[in-house]
Amino acid sequence: MLLHSYKISRTLPCLADPEKIRVIADVSDEIPEVFPFLNAVLKGCIYNHPALTLTIRKDGKLFTLHAHHITLAKIEDENEAEEILKWLKDLINETYEKRDQIEPNYSMAAELKALDIFKLLPGTNCKQCGEQACLAFAVKLVAQDIDIMKCDPLFSGEFQGKQKVLLELLRAAGYMTTSKEINP
Ligand code: SF4
Repeated sequence: MLLHSYKISRTLPCLADPEKIRVIADVSDEIPEVFPFLNAVLKGCIYNHPALTLTIRKDGKLFTLHAHHITLAKIEDENEAEEILKWLKDLINETYEKRDQIEPNYSMAAELKALDIFKLLPGTNCKQCGEQACLAFAVKLVAQDIDIMKCDPLFSGEFQGKQKVLLELLRAAGYMTTSKEINP
């Protein structure tokens, strides 16, 4: 076992969403050894090998693993934080146990940018999604604060090419995407 225990040390307002909290938990053991193996098995991680940090996206939330602590963002309350920390502890230990069967990945995944998403949206600024413009929608989508399904025109058939590339991009980056896709 690599990680034996963790303890929540601080609870702060979430920078990304003022209605949620940010939780910092200290870990009992140094965990960076497992980062390249987690980076190999999980989709959409952001691994910074020199800084020894690994950010995991899950269900619109961000979990950043450091050498001596874990930061959780966009968290509802401490109960949710405890559940996520338990999940992370199990994930870390299970991956560490299987490390002999995993090819470590030391590469840094490029972070998905709002501009990359914007280029694949219809670009009509029609406001059907509730946002003032496609760029505002892209900013929310990259922060996982809005569902891609809210952009109805993207699924209208007219923008099928963009839709397929965008869904692929989101999936590759570890974002949850809809199963709704237009068939030719
Ligand atoms: S619904 Fe789609 S096309 Fe219309 S403004 Fe929103 S993101 Fe742009």
